[in-house]
Parts: sequence; structure tokens; C-alpha cells
Amino acid sequence: MSKPQVGPRAADQTVRAALLEALRSPRPLAALELSSIVRISQREVADHLEHLQRSLAGSEERLVVEPARCNACEFEFESRDRLSRPSRCPKCKSERIDPPRFRVTAR
Ligand SMILES: [Zn+2]
Repeated sequence: MSKPQVGPRAADQTVRAALLEALRSPRPLAALELSSIVRISQREVADHLEHLQRSLAGSEERLVVEPARCNACEFEFESRDRLSRPSRCPKCKSERIDPPRFRVTAR
């Protein structure tokens, strides 16, 4: 009998479980915070969040996204589908953008 394979898929599962655990905190977290908790890059956090959002559909929980917001004019990036941080405000061109924050709650 061979040992069960520990491949990238298993690692992904572990990361996703850790991410989900962090997201169940009552305080919404930005990708930067999540990346330091789970020890993956912000790019990877965004990928996992997109996957998590889909996989939670039909479950008891859902991913809540607090939209990014411009610090200069308070513009909210509501309609943005991507979960990554926008680089510049379309309204006032400021780059002082508060990143989107995430948490997982019961429906
Ligand atoms: Zn702005």
C-alpha cells in the first residue's frame, strides 16, 4: 500500500481551510491581512477567494465583500467583480484606495 499522495490539490485544500477559518472572524479582513495569516501571496488570496465564493454557493455560509473605497472622495467600487484591489479611483484619480475586505458569515 502506498501513502496517499500529497500534491498541490491537498495543499490547496489546507490553504482554503485556513483561509475560511480566518474569514469567519467577526472583523472583515483585507487581502493583505489574509495573506499574512495564511502565508500566501495576495494574488493567491484573490484566487482562493474567487474559488471560495463559488464553492460556498448553496452552503450555509456566504462570502461578504466590503467594497474598496476611495479615501479621497469616498467613491465605492460597488460594481467591481474582481476581488483584487483597484489601483486608482475612476472619479478623482486618487491612488489612496482602501482595499476591499472580506468575511464569511451564515446566510
Ligand atoms: Zn476618488
